[in-house]
Amino acid sequence: MANVYSTICPGCNFGCGLYIRENGNLDVDFRKSSPANSGKLCRFGMSLPRLYTPVRSMVDGKEVELTEAAKDAAKRISASKGSVAFLSFGNTTCEEHLAFGKLGEAYLCTGADFEALPKDTYQTISVGIPYSEIEAAKHIVLFIDPYEQYPLIVRRILSAKKKGAKITSVWWKDLPLADENLRPADVSKLKLSGDSLVIADFHPLSDMENVKNVLSLAKNAGARITFLKPFANSTGAYILSKDAKQKSLVQLVEDINKGAIKTLFCLESDPGEMIPAETLGKLTTLIVQTGMASAITKKAHVVIAHEPLYKKKGTLINNEGRAQSLGGEGTRGLDALGVMAGVKFEFGVLNESVKKTIGINSIDEFTIPKYDRPGYAAPQASVKPVDAKTALVSVFNPFMWFGLPDDNDFVEMNLNTARALKLLKSGTLKIRSNGSAIEKRFKIGPVQENVLLTGRKFGIEKGMLTPVEISR
Ligand code: SF4
Repeated sequence: MANVYSTICPGCNFGCGLYIRENGNLDVDFRKSSPANSGKLCRFGMSLPRLYTPVRSMVDGKEVELTEAAKDAAKRISASKGSVAFLSFGNTTCEEHLAFGKLGEAYLCTGADFEALPKDTYQTISVGIPYSEIEAAKHIVLFIDPYEQYPLIVRRILSAKKKGAKITSVWWKDLPLADENLRPADVSKLKLSGDSLVIADFHPLSDMENVKNVLSLAKNAGARITFLKPFANSTGAYILSKDAKQKSLVQLVEDINKGAIKTLFCLESDPGEMIPAETLGKLTTLIVQTGMASAITKKAHVVIAHEPLYKKKGTLINNEGRAQSLGGEGTRGLDALGVMAGVKFEFGVLNESVKKTIGINSIDEFTIPKYDRPGYAAPQASVKPVDAKTALVSVFNPFMWFGLPDDNDFVEMNLNTARALKLLKSGTLKIRSNGSAIEKRFKIGPVQENVLLTGRKFGIEKGMLTPVEISR
């Protein structure tokens, strides 16, 4: 008999429900009753069987039991006291995140750079608005590419459009659902009002000046704003870490580079996707706790392998602030964190604490808890103009965050840019950045001139926007 788990897609914080069926292989089944997505899934959700590759606990390349790996990790953490960082982007349950917060309070990194933002914006950034409010909006302004980055939101935007909403996009490419397409450099032409709803996103690689700028634009116009996020439980992780001193990804990279951090513990987070390889190479110890194999589990000194997310017991909080229960029974992740912290983490106690933090008595995916939505003062932003003739723009999407191979191994560019370079149809394009050069296939699209869009990492990126030189 097949085991069937009612679960949530980890591809982004949209909170799409689905079933995973274990039947020799893994299969995905649609869960029509799921309130965030009514059963629909994007390409990434359908690719989950490829993501959930089994992983084994290891110490220095030798297979061991989970407890042994956790004990070994505890020893290494204690030996490296004062120079250990704990990284979790928000790919795990609220209960594990709470336990993780206790283990790693000396240096907790969710990757998000909240320190660069005024405190009064924390809640607005952490908890988005219900999707039903997106469908009811009169004017939607997109600072994302919904098709690539958060595909299930497209249905909500189209539903608003059907009811007469105007859609404006501020992006490097014309979006098919937009009535008005502005380029990011022309954001000063954007007209917002009290009827506008701004949709932006927030993640460890966000440019904080841009985040402040969209917050200011919305505030000054009396518009609403909601931030989408890329990790299954980003919202939960941010709400639960509200009072913790969180380090940003930039700070972590700096601390590893200057030798202040020598041991890195990663919970359900692949640092290889966001931290340069030369920085990771400076660590003396890399400990990875995860439920699936990835490139980083091959490089880690210690791998603590627990059940994959769909087999876990626990709570995720989606972008709307909706609390959703995972359908599994597994608590091996919590047990391992307990071994490292030297305490026994009781699931029930942590679950009560999660409910108390969000002010609910039970986890009910059909009722969105009432969150405080305090006002904030418009932050001062100094967005730097891009001083590069040509830029490669990374369109962070679920495949990219997880390093899962996808078939779109090309860049998208404007026809005029391709003509100016005399590119040959079905030929390739040379892209150079800081001494590295790559050759890629290209696709023509309604993209801003001299901008290349990529939904895949090529290894030459310097964040979201990389100045490049291009040639035939
Ligand atoms: S929109 Fe996000 S949560 Fe939904 S299926 Fe796609 S990746 Fe998964």
